[in-house]
Amino acid sequence: MLNIVLFGPPGAGKGTQSERLIERYGLVHLSTGDIFRANIKGETELGIMAKSFMDQGKLVPDEVTINMLRSEVLKHEHPKGFIFDGFPRTNAQAQALDVLLDELKAPISLMLALEVEEDELKIRLMKRAESSGRADDADPAIIENRIRVYNNETAPVKEFYQAQHKFKSIDGIGSIDDITARLFEAIDK
Ligand code: ADP
Repeated sequence: MLNIVLFGPPGAGKGTQSERLIERYGLVHLSTGDIFRANIKGETELGIMAKSFMDQGKLVPDEVTINMLRSEVLKHEHPKGFIFDGFPRTNAQAQALDVLLDELKAPISLMLALEVEEDELKIRLMKRAESSGRADDADPAIIENRIRVYNNETAPVKEFYQAQHKFKSIDGIGSIDDITARLFEAIDK
């Protein structure tokens, strides 16, 4: 199995690039943000709970997120692999993912980290707000909070995969096609 963690700060382009990767490699796309948003739309208990954190730009608690991700992974019988988008976002999530994938005997192959500097992220998120309808994109204070949470809690997850020699940094600036080409190259070699 090819199991990829697509990593990067909010607005780095994980969702856009995930679409390219699933098409080329036949992977199952698991975006925790998308799953939470689907639950919010469906007004499930999980959605109502997640919304209270997401609207403030905070992380949904690990236990809830990990259980949700676990049940999503186990829904797929014989996947070619997964692309994890927006997960893991904490070291506890990374550890839980390793435990789960150990059970499936299908470890993470690679973490691909899209690198984009903060000013560019803010511009992209404000632009995305015009069409996404996402409350967490529209408010500069919430964007600031998401970037702060990323720097404090999520960026350290890189080291978890560095220690396993699975980390690759990808320049996330350029055209969508250019960045896709960089990701394909990193996976194929
Ligand atoms: P982005 O990366 O652009 O901020 P996402 O759609 O990945 O957007 O996430 C939106 C929000 O969903 C996050 O700000 C957070 O509140 C919640 N969320 C998504 N994934 C996780 C996760 N793995 N752990 C905790 N919260 C998460």
